[in-house]
Amino acid sequence: MKNFVFDRPIGKLIHGGDYNPEQWLDRPDILKADIEYMKKARINEATIGVFSWSVYEPREGEFHFEWLIDVMDRLYENGIYSIVATPSGARPAWMDLKYPEVMRTNGMGIRNRHGLRHNHCLSSEIYRNKVRLIDRKLAECAGSHPGLLMWHISNEYGGECYCDNCKNRFREYLKKRFGNDIEKLNHEWWTTFWSARYESFDEIEPPYENGQTAIMGLNLEWKRFTSWNFADFAKTEADTLRQYSSRDDIPVTTNLMKQFYDIDYRVLTAQMDTISWDSYPEFHNDRETYADTMLESAFDNALLRGLKRGRPFMLMESTPGVVNWMDYNKLRRPGVHMQFSLQAIASGSDTVQYFQFRKSRGAAEQFHGGVIGHDGTDGTRIFREVAATGEMLEELADVEGTVPVSKAAVLFDWDNWWAIDGSGGFAKTTRRYPQTCSEYWKKLLQLGVEADIISANDPFDGYSLIIAPMLFLLRDECARRIRDFVSRGGIILGTYMMGYINENCLCHLGGFPGAGLSEVFGIVSEEIDTLYPTDTNTVNITDERFRDSNWKVRDYAEVLKVGDADVIGVYTDDYYKGGAALTCKKYGSGAAYYQAARSAPDEMEGFLKTLLKDADIECADIPKGIEYHRRSDGDKVFEFYLNTSEGSITVGDTTLAPKESLVVARGDGAGETKKKYCFKYKS
Ligand SMILES: [Zn+2]
Repeated sequence: MKNFVFDRPIGKLIHGGDYNPEQWLDRPDILKADIEYMKKARINEATIGVFSWSVYEPREGEFHFEWLIDVMDRLYENGIYSIVATPSGARPAWMDLKYPEVMRTNGMGIRNRHGLRHNHCLSSEIYRNKVRLIDRKLAECAGSHPGLLMWHISNEYGGECYCDNCKNRFREYLKKRFGNDIEKLNHEWWTTFWSARYESFDEIEPPYENGQTAIMGLNLEWKRFTSWNFADFAKTEADTLRQYSSRDDIPVTTNLMKQFYDIDYRVLTAQMDTISWDSYPEFHNDRETYADTMLESAFDNALLRGLKRGRPFMLMESTPGVVNWMDYNKLRRPGVHMQFSLQAIASGSDTVQYFQFRKSRGAAEQFHGGVIGHDGTDGTRIFREVAATGEMLEELADVEGTVPVSKAAVLFDWDNWWAIDGSGGFAKTTRRYPQTCSEYWKKLLQLGVEADIISANDPFDGYSLIIAPMLFLLRDECARRIRDFVSRGGIILGTYMMGYINENCLCHLGGFPGAGLSEVFGIVSEEIDTLYPTDTNTVNITDERFRDSNWKVRDYAEVLKVGDADVIGVYTDDYYKGGAALTCKKYGSGAAYYQAARSAPDEMEGFLKTLLKDADIECADIPKGIEYHRRSDGDKVFEFYLNTSEGSITVGDTTLAPKESLVVARGDGAGETKKKYCFKYKS
């Protein structure tokens, strides 16, 4: 059952983050002080070498890792692990000037100039060879070090390239995808319309911004190709590190970002051992409460954790103070960093890490927060809160290797996101696919149930309730698994926009939801109405079991033809007044619910509670204003109660002040409380 972030237990939670000592190699006094400050803040890990290429290899073929090994030695002597990064996120100038093809080409077909980061072509064999070589040298040099904990590949992969190398690689990818059969591609992309037929794969171009952007299948396949190309590139890096490290117990990760549109993270992370991601919520913004920002952050943790079910993840980057890239870079208020860090742990992270340990003196991240600021001391508020967080993580060492476990899942996947976004029709501003998924997940969390977030292609075993918001792109195979899931006793909630298209963006024929699901749900969706923000309608819940006030309808309302489903909610207005808006069909031993219009899950509490009860999922009784999480390994159980409200709240016999959190540790079975911890940063 236990599944560890580093493939083995290390007996502690990791507290650390990006450390860029190459900026200070001429200041040995600073490097010495850093180690002392790390120890004082109970930092036990440093991530080194992200973006260090121009120091690793200042001139072509001339490698310098002596500084890296020296830093790793000194960290290790002081009880601090190293995570070592490959430098492929940015390149030295000599490479771009000598080999221009390594630079990226934009969507208008124009090649970039040298500069910035993430500006490389992943199809360039020259670039791949350069990366392989430096990764090999790095592995040979650092891959035997006793302080090495993990390999960190590149940094926040993203973007896309439209160069000729990528175009040719895309064509080869398409040949494989369509069995080298251009007529199959023409059929699946419906190219006869608007005279878009291709006679051969050599005629296909990427969807340049000033070119062919009207074929939905092409646009979607280009996104998939780009993800595949990133994954293939990352695999090259991972394979090289694994091949040339003399230690074979070093796992590999790459750091991800929240709800990141460019790359299908499930494809990218297939080659990774552990999920890690960089979390920078916009705390104290002028649109929402602190509790709302925390809830969104909890959703992101669950989304990223869901990429490897049953395994803890890593909070690879965060800031204890401020970032430098938002529109408004507001300071985190006292106590926020500590509670945010505990939330990551509560959500399944075994690490709390920062970017970066010491603020840069100049260049791009000059004013991005760090543990040590430009004053160079440990006498700051930020440092004190980081140190208090380090103490908290030491107290919670036993949490390592446990995970949130759930019988409820919300479906979310990139294919569907891209397809909804890239389709014609509906409204341009209100599709809101990720937001819609997150609203269901957040409502379940508020009801005391932390659902998993999985893809429609993931196994459904172990779940008794699946919520499938806007499952627009529906593969035959997925439809079959949904049918099996329900017939064996599962409960599914499908919504408007379900099962409209297949994996190549062709509409399913014979009524939505397609691929046979209209039979499972007992309805056919005949039309979908797109509402203006000023349009109003409501759903009247007619079945007593699902006690709720009328649900307000927003954005989308489908008109259903009801077959053998029971109608449990009807529209109250418009020409479809009295028509079915919510249905249920018993199917096999389970039940398939269909929600035809968009309503806020916040208004659907009675309905959702009934679904949870029918699915035999216990709702923890959580006071309003408390964010609740639970981690377990089947033996130990940890319950986390975070007061994210503005007032004091009592949980059991403990009263929690704002931003105070309670952790209850139990042995399983007896339910006996073993230990309670309260955490609040006191400035
Ligand atoms: Zn390219």
